[in-house]
Amino acid sequence: KIVIEKLSKSYGEKCIISNMSLTIEQGEIISVVGPSGSGKSTLLKCLAGLEPVSAGSIKVGEKDITSMQANQRPIVMMFQQPLLFPHMTVLENVMIGLSFKRKGTKAEQKEQAANFLMKVGLEGYGKNYPYELSGGQQQRVALARALITNPQLMLLDEPFSSIDNEKRDELRLWVKNLLKEEGIASLFITHDIEEAMLMGDRVVIFAEQIVQQVGKPLDVYEEPATPFVAKFYSDGL
Ligand code: ATP
Ligand code: MG
Repeated sequence: KIVIEKLSKSYGEKCIISNMSLTIEQGEIISVVGPSGSGKSTLLKCLAGLEPVSAGSIKVGEKDITSMQANQRPIVMMFQQPLLFPHMTVLENVMIGLSFKRKGTKAEQKEQAANFLMKVGLEGYGKNYPYELSGGQQQRVALARALITNPQLMLLDEPFSSIDNEKRDELRLWVKNLLKEEGIASLFITHDIEEAMLMGDRVVIFAEQIVQQVGKPLDVYEEPATPFVAKFYSDGL
């Protein structure tokens, strides 16, 4: 499990996250919703090691990773855009995930990458280039590339926001099923409260520097803990 303890983050004088504590169980997906600019991406950056925390600690299992280099952390991230390398094939893009670990021979890496492409429903696309794929398919390549690193924690920063409405439902299912199948703890960020409830085993409402409420989707919906959460549900963002 992942334990975030009393995490605070400021940019200069400006406090973004104040004294946040949260535990993510093995295999659990937690959705994080909150207003634009509230600090959701900042939280992910702190976890990924792209921004130093101002105070507090982050533990993965027994290991304190708070001051570990980003590339040493057992954590991967999926962004709004898939960020694939355009000059590399789909298979090579997935293999990039492995190259950080330098595990196995080239042939073994290829086989593993092909296996993960199959898991995301892109068998037979290995030799294609990213531009030959739809946006949703490209995100599934990014998903395969992330999963192949065998992460302890997966961070998803609005990964469906640039996908067409019709394709979004399908992609959500791919992502949720695979995260569950692989048993990876995940933090999933979205603006969309419905999407948050659909994807998350639990939902975190984050605003005004703090966790306003955390709980099972229906519990939060039925019993908002603060006026902010109640307003959030009635008015949206
Ligand atoms: P959105 O929903 O629009 O993506 P968010 O909740 O992800 O918003 P953040 O990107 O985490 O919000 O930003 C939180 C606040 O921190 C914003 O006011 C932003 O301007 C500020 N901020 C973000 N990154 C930096 C930085 N590197 N230096 C200074 N301020 C920053
Ligand atoms: Mg953001």
